[in-house]
Amino acid sequence: MLTIDGSTGEGGGQILRTSLSLSMVTGQPVTIERIRARRPKPGLMRQHLACVLAAQAVSGAQVSGAELGSQTLVFEPGALRPGEHSFAIGSAGSCLLVLQTVLPALMLADAPSRLTLSGGTHNPLAPNFHFIERSFLPLLARLGVKVGASLRRHGFYPAGGGELWASIEPPAGGLRPFDLLERGAQVESFAESLVAAVPRRVAERELALIGEAMGWSPEQLRVPNVRQNEGPGNALMATLAHEHVTEVFTSFGEKSVSSEQVAKRLLSEVRAYQSGTGAVGAHLADQLALPAALAVQHSGRAMVYTCSEVTEHLRTNLAVIERFLPVRAELSQQGARRWCVRLSPGL
Ligand code: ATP
Repeated sequence: MLTIDGSTGEGGGQILRTSLSLSMVTGQPVTIERIRARRPKPGLMRQHLACVLAAQAVSGAQVSGAELGSQTLVFEPGALRPGEHSFAIGSAGSCLLVLQTVLPALMLADAPSRLTLSGGTHNPLAPNFHFIERSFLPLLARLGVKVGASLRRHGFYPAGGGELWASIEPPAGGLRPFDLLERGAQVESFAESLVAAVPRRVAERELALIGEAMGWSPEQLRVPNVRQNEGPGNALMATLAHEHVTEVFTSFGEKSVSSEQVAKRLLSEVRAYQSGTGAVGAHLADQLALPAALAVQHSGRAMVYTCSEVTEHLRTNLAVIERFLPVRAELSQQGARRWCVRLSPGL
């Protein structure tokens, strides 16, 4: 039984999710203690519990401590159960965080899977559907895993009510690591403002500010069709597609936050990324670590990627990965906003 201290490093829900994913993949039972101990509301919140229950369904695990507020969880995985699964996260808990929890195990199972997830699809502080579809899944495809995802209904915080489908096909020839050192030439850049049950002029105002600041043409400023009964919600997104990597940055509209502020928040993220040369941005850097480490373990070959920022999320995730897998993670700085993450087979 491996013991993971959930309060170390970044100390958030990601320690729990990475531990669940790797416990399922390796078959290693784990006790996670002091879950989110230093957060204002410590322990398992609804969206964390949803991840535990999804992991249990996918791996037939024996679990104790799966309750709201619980700070200790014992998780003993059984045999993987690929196939059809439905997970209702309830409230606006993030569907994408649940998907990311079960994906590593299902992508290494001996049969494909089809998932239906309902809850939040566009949540602050979590990867949203568009980020997963455009940024994360193409990198998984380069590792050899085909994941199809389709957005059936938007679910914005706090109302939720979204739904997505995902199909997961394990790689025929095993996971293949690849190096991702440069972004490559810029292929496309554009901004979108999703508005559901929020006036269209909010989107137009946000996009006008982005257009002016970025020097983008009207064709690069888009208001996609969203069914108005899927709100209320407003997500302002910028997509920067490069030859080797696509980044999606998002800022959410909130009550009593002006369109200017929403646009400015987005611009600061986009500019931070543009001022660096690392291939992936802060969020993609921490989310790529786990599938990359699995590819290293499976192939026995190293994988290197660069990122524009090293966050506590990334450092913490690498530390948890090293507890489960015979993989060594090294970080080195190569410039003001360029870091290198090297994952190599360990003992
Ligand atoms: P907490 O315990 O702090 O409440 P949590 O369970 O909500 O934690 P974190 O541990 O903070 O979640 O992990 C959030 C994950 O969501 C991280 O992988 C992070 O990279 C990702 N994430 C956050 N914001 C974005 C964003 N704008 N785009 C893509 N990914 C994001």
